[in-house]
Amino acid sequence: MPKIQNAAISVVNPATEQIIGQVPDMPAEQVHKAVARAKKAWDGWRRTPAHEKAQMLREIARRIQDRADDLAKVLTQEGGKPFRENKDEMGWSASCFEFYAELARGRRGRVIPSIETSQLNLVVKEPYGVVGAIVPWNYPILLMAWKLAPALAAGNTIVLKPAEQTPLSTLAFERIFDVLPPGVVEIVTGLGETAGEAIVRHPDVALIAFTGSLETGKRISRICADMVKKAHLELGGKDAFVVCEDSDLDVAVKAVAWASFLNTGQVCTSAERVYVQKDIYKPFLERLADFTRSLRLGDGFDPATDVGPMIGGVYREKVEEHVRDALKRGAKLLAGGKRPKDRPRGFFYEPTVLADVDHKMTVMRDETFGPVCPVMPYRHFDDAIKLANDSIYGLGANLYTHDARKAKKFFEEVQAGTIWINDPLTDNDAGPFGGYKATGGSRELGEEGLEEFQQSKHVHWDFEQKAKPWWYPYGPKSNGSK
Ligand code: NAD
Repeated sequence: MPKIQNAAISVVNPATEQIIGQVPDMPAEQVHKAVARAKKAWDGWRRTPAHEKAQMLREIARRIQDRADDLAKVLTQEGGKPFRENKDEMGWSASCFEFYAELARGRRGRVIPSIETSQLNLVVKEPYGVVGAIVPWNYPILLMAWKLAPALAAGNTIVLKPAEQTPLSTLAFERIFDVLPPGVVEIVTGLGETAGEAIVRHPDVALIAFTGSLETGKRISRICADMVKKAHLELGGKDAFVVCEDSDLDVAVKAVAWASFLNTGQVCTSAERVYVQKDIYKPFLERLADFTRSLRLGDGFDPATDVGPMIGGVYREKVEEHVRDALKRGAKLLAGGKRPKDRPRGFFYEPTVLADVDHKMTVMRDETFGPVCPVMPYRHFDDAIKLANDSIYGLGANLYTHDARKAKKFFEEVQAGTIWINDPLTDNDAGPFGGYKATGGSRELGEEGLEEFQQSKHVHWDFEQKAKPWWYPYGPKSNGSK
């Protein structure tokens, strides 16, 4: 890490509001130097044999696992989510590096049938060059892994910027990434508008892989469009969760609570709109409210904590605004709805259940990104599907049912990149993750996640040097011969 010689960003523990560290807000010149190092490293990295790359990626996975406790500790301090969730995040991140170490080792493209027998046609998958990876604070290590592992496996080098709220856990990876040749991964710190935009605007950065809000995604998209640069976008969500009348109520209640309050509701795939069939609406709400009130709010290091603080004051104010708007428009508050009295410090907000919401309310339209679970009844299953699709976003959608016909209809009709049936929010490295509509059309994980960082080159090769009958001249030769 360079010495702090520029304006510094203070990193705050969201549970205590204490400053726990500082990192530089790097000016453009410093980012440009990082890009130059990554560009220099690319020439060697793209030529590194796949099995050697795979060995290094596996070593990264091993180091993450070995240091999982320490890394999770740093992330709990700066990000606030419970230590056990951060330990899980380290495990998932290691698994992602392992997955791409294997996936990229055995493939480089394909051979396709040729037009003539003397020919060979290859589709060669090649890296882009320097990839700019910009990630948010809610899963800083996992979302970094989802970009870096496939991008590196594909032969790209990286300039990575963590969010200003959670740079310390990412900087701890400098000692993990030192298994790679110098310059292959460059970490820069700073604000989005300064360091982030310096990456996006740099002509030597060939692709931007961004996870974050819709507004930032649009801005990055506009800059990339002007430069004709590929933007890989993983933006906001407003996931629907539909509960059918045949569900086991106790299981469905726990599933909804976990999907709504995991990481204090700050998950792009949080259940932010819950639709419950009207015949079970009342008992479902009673149990959900009771269960929500039983959740323990606290510091992420306390093993008894279910729900930690939010990341910061601005994000909590947005949640408060959504709850205020809903109550003003007639929603009923069944649990939470306020800052906890016994925690004057820290960005805490009680897990909240709102009932009788409708689609005019902000809480059912805009991304809340906080511990709020708004619930609305529906009559027929087709109504639930219409409601689920009534959003600008299309990241994920959940369904609870045993009815296979409903399940099939749901996954065919709902416009979302992931459909979870009876198991909310579970990721699988082998399957793609990403969104429809305004969530952005990119995909991470799976084969699709590798392809995002590869461009295709078609090699058309003829082993015979023969003039082709379809070349000039089209008409009879000028001397009259045919
Ligand atoms: P944000 O867009 O404010 O910030 C995300 C990152 O972008 C940060 O590193 C930030 O510094 C950087 N940034 C900000 N402005 C920039 C600019 N002009 N140029 C370049 N970089 C810039 O997002 P946030 O509010 O901190 O994060 C939460 C959002 O992320 C939510 O909307 C959530 O849904 C989304 N998210 C999406 C996914 C997904 O996979 N679709 C996953 C996690 C989070």
